[in-house]
Amino acid sequence: MTTTVTQEKSADSTIKLPLYNLVNRLPGPKNFAIKIFMFSFIGTQLPMFALLLYVVMNVGMTAEILTTVSIVLITALLGSASTVMALLAYTEPVTAVRKALQNFTLQDTAPDLPQGSGDEIGELMNNTQGALKKLHSMLHNMHEMSIRDELTGLYNRRFFTEQADLLLIRAARYEEPIALVYIDIDHFKDVNDKFSHQVGDHALRQMGTLLSDSARGSDLTARIGGDEFIIMFPNTNAAKARLLGERLRQNLSGHDWSALLPGQRITVSMGVAEATPGDTLDQLLARADQNLYKAKDGGRDQIQA
Ligand code: GH3
Ligand code: MG
Repeated sequence: MTTTVTQEKSADSTIKLPLYNLVNRLPGPKNFAIKIFMFSFIGTQLPMFALLLYVVMNVGMTAEILTTVSIVLITALLGSASTVMALLAYTEPVTAVRKALQNFTLQDTAPDLPQGSGDEIGELMNNTQGALKKLHSMLHNMHEMSIRDELTGLYNRRFFTEQADLLLIRAARYEEPIALVYIDIDHFKDVNDKFSHQVGDHALRQMGTLLSDSARGSDLTARIGGDEFIIMFPNTNAAKARLLGERLRQNLSGHDWSALLPGQRITVSMGVAEATPGDTLDQLLARADQNLYKAKDGGRDQIQA
């Protein structure tokens, strides 16, 4: 019952364009500007041609009549040319709006329509520009929210998994090495217990900044759990990943935390793994996790490969 009412309502609220549809159904070229031109030509010039025909048929084709016909023909063509110009001026912004909508739909590109003047067509351009820009930035923000970890701004686990799978496929196809470093903060519970959960959040945020600052553009850096992070290094073998990880570990353990955590050091343990042909992401992560636990067992603040 409710569905029927809604359907009826939405059918009623559909915008109807009776004249547009009528003109479109007429035979002739598909181009709307040409159709309007034909209409205006017939509408404005037909009475004059009918009068001329009447005069020619009743008076005959004298020199005066020939001059009159020529003048009427030339002025009619000039008049029609001015109509065409006005029509083209009118269809230019409509075409720009059509292209902007098409680009936005197909390529997700932000519109770049010129600022229109205060008439209806100008308003159409301005409103389309405003609406598409708003939609574009909303979609961009929503996408960013869906791939980022809220606390640190690093990529989240879901996006990491998606991208890491793609990087693994790519590495296998081009027979390139690929490795990752699994990072877990040492005794992070103690930080929360000693300073509060909020201070712990600040520390995690700062850790996120330190990790993204040290990563290269091609690295994939993500927070995949509470105090767990991963950096995936494309085109890098285990030995190189270990070197990069070790440098990072030293930077982190040398970082001055005194402003946020007086009297407290933060260290991390890391496990490295390199993909072997046919590895799934889960298998790679499991090996990195085993090495991480070796690092924890070995006394923390170290990297194991
Ligand atoms: P370990 O050296 O064995 O890693 O010790 P740990 O205390 O770091 O233990 P574990 O890694 O198992 O636990 C991580 C802790 O991180 C648990 C929780 O108290 C804390 N934690 C997880 N998520 C958050 C968060 O979003 N904010 C804060 N402040 N703390 C978190
Ligand atoms: Mg930990």
